[in-house]
Amino acid sequence: MSEGLESLPRQYGRVYVLRLGHRPARDKRVTTHVALVARAFGANGFVLEGVCDDSVYSSLAKASKTWGGMISYECGVDGHEYVKVWKASGGEIIHLTMYGLPLDDVIGKVSSSPKPKLVVVGSQKVESFYYMNSDYNVAVGWQPHSEVAALALFLDRLFKGRELYYYYSDATAIIMPSERGKRVERRERK
Ligand code: SAM
Repeated sequence: MSEGLESLPRQYGRVYVLRLGHRPARDKRVTTHVALVARAFGANGFVLEGVCDDSVYSSLAKASKTWGGMISYECGVDGHEYVKVWKASGGEIIHLTMYGLPLDDVIGKVSSSPKPKLVVVGSQKVESFYYMNSDYNVAVGWQPHSEVAALALFLDRLFKGRELYYYYSDATAIIMPSERGKRVERRERK
């Protein structure tokens, strides 16, 4: 545990997560977990399509204040436009869906490409635009489960599990793994 997590995504330029279809009245918790997984598992940007939700942003900022590693945050974007611009500027789109190709078959190609990656996750029904305009439609198994689980597994495969062993260099608290209890080392913010 001596390197900063932010060194992970640089080999890809950028890894961003685009969350579609957030309904502030219903999805606060799930969308917050998508954002927290994006941050904790090595993505360096989180983008909320269609709306802004202060509670999602403040949860992300709160976690980062203690544990470091604030990622880029955007909200209220037009999803179609965001995808088009991402592709036009040389990036690739990875849409996570139970209808896609197996993660194991795709991950080698995705990992070896240096292109910035936009990982798209839905909430309810995802428009066909995303199926048609993604470079990869990727299934994390063919059962319906959760955008949180799908994203976590995808990022873990992308970073080959290394993201679990890193901490952020600007953290003010760092966990010292222990068999029982909670050991936390406090640090001055750099
Ligand atoms: N029928 C949806 C689908 O297309 O995957 C499941 C909706 S699920 C509530 C919300 C999101 O979770 C999906 O848009 C997708 O991003 C993700 N998801 C759920 N199950 C998945 C799976 N088996 N593989 C990949 N992504 C999945």
